[in-house]
Amino acid sequence: MKFDFRNIRFRTWIYFTTLTLGVLVMLWLFQIVLLGSSFRNMKISQVKLVADTLEEGLSNNVFGRKIQISAVQNQVCGLVYNNREKLLYQVDALGMGCLFNETAIGLTQRVNDYIVDLDESVSQDFALTVTNNVIQQDMLVYGRKVSIPFGDYYIFLNAPLLPLDSTIDILKEQFIYVTLLVFILFSIVSLLISQRISRPIEQMKKSALKLAEGDYEVQFEQGEFTEITDLANTLNRSTAELKKMDELRKDLIANVTHDIKTPLTMIKAYAEMIKDISGDNKIKREEHLNVILDEVDHLDHLAQDLTQLTQLQSNVLGLKIESFNITEFIYQALRLVDAMIIEQGIEVEVLAPEHVFTLGDAQRILQVLLNFITNAIKYIGADKKLILQVLTEKQYVRVEVIDHGVGISEEDQPYIWDRYYKIDKHHHRNLSGTGLGLSIASAILKNHHARYGVVSVLKQGSTFWFDLPYAVKPDHIL
Ligand code: ADP
Repeated sequence: MKFDFRNIRFRTWIYFTTLTLGVLVMLWLFQIVLLGSSFRNMKISQVKLVADTLEEGLSNNVFGRKIQISAVQNQVCGLVYNNREKLLYQVDALGMGCLFNETAIGLTQRVNDYIVDLDESVSQDFALTVTNNVIQQDMLVYGRKVSIPFGDYYIFLNAPLLPLDSTIDILKEQFIYVTLLVFILFSIVSLLISQRISRPIEQMKKSALKLAEGDYEVQFEQGEFTEITDLANTLNRSTAELKKMDELRKDLIANVTHDIKTPLTMIKAYAEMIKDISGDNKIKREEHLNVILDEVDHLDHLAQDLTQLTQLQSNVLGLKIESFNITEFIYQALRLVDAMIIEQGIEVEVLAPEHVFTLGDAQRILQVLLNFITNAIKYIGADKKLILQVLTEKQYVRVEVIDHGVGISEEDQPYIWDRYYKIDKHHHRNLSGTGLGLSIASAILKNHHARYGVVSVLKQGSTFWFDLPYAVKPDHIL
């Protein structure tokens, strides 16, 4: 199996270990590398303190116990010379280890050189690291020139840099253990953390694969991280949508098949009847042929509606936006369903101002109106009342088609605009329409970017509405 360098587990481990190594390198730098110079600086300031007490002694011409104590405290030995290179004072806390020990070879020459150095130095002091060959150690040599009214004096102090090397060695050893320990610890922690992050994602991947195979029951599990929970919620919502779409697709195929099969069966049956029975009977034959023609018409409507819906939904039909009087259109729509109204004894009430001009594709809006009206007639209430209302609002004109019939439950309301959605799930072939009416209406209104909807209460009735912009605002509207 090929190792994936981009997976979360490996990446997190790399980030963590790089971070750990970075921190360790920094620690190494500060602890080990800089320790040498910081220790030396510390030593210099200690030695300078002893030089200060000596300088004080010179000024007061008293070399007391204070100097001795300071020298012992700071592990320092030293000499004080006057400007005639005469040794005035000596302090020693180092014994044999002191570079300025009386027995040291070349002491006088060394002191003479230092005095020359100090005379030439601007700062009037110096600090050197010198190897003491007697005890094989690096030592600090500090020199200072003191000018007071009695004359010039030279202070030379010497302190071992002894503990440094061994301390660094101990630290180095410790550091290797600490590095190893921290490295192992952080590796384990990073593995645990990366697992916590990657596990829910891997789980999601499994669920997504199931979804890809068409399992819409799959659930995306929420994790402990907000982002993963959000993603899981989004995917769950998408799955629900996909499931709904899939059901609709299946419904659509089933319903279209049903709607095609029924007329085909009828056509076949009546054609056979004409062939076998009514062929010679003119009246019967006419009757049977009319049934065939009706069924063919229905198939034709179905084909037209499906084509129109597809075209509307894919936006291929451009809209012919014009200004028209919506009230006039309401009356025109009513005239088209006149036969139904009279047949069912429906009482129509139109509540609309006489002239309200709106903008839209008049023919398509007429189609929407017709669909709302025929539905209202189909589901009309016991009062047999159909109300058409035009409301002039501030920004737009609202058209409402109201009935007091069966109504639509709240759960069903969002779905009635879907193709072939039937509240009673037993699809029965529609005698007047094709069952695509509301989806066509919805597609037309969406193409107009119009707001639309339904307000409905079960057993009380429904109000189907849509808004269109004004062509010319009536005077009474601000
Ligand atoms: P069809 O009316 O041919 O079934 P539509 O797309 O026009 O198709 O309507 C979809 C569904 O919405 C209808 O089957 C019906 O259940 C519901 N519906 C539409 N208008 C009304 C109404 N005025 N009152 C009650 N239910 C309605």
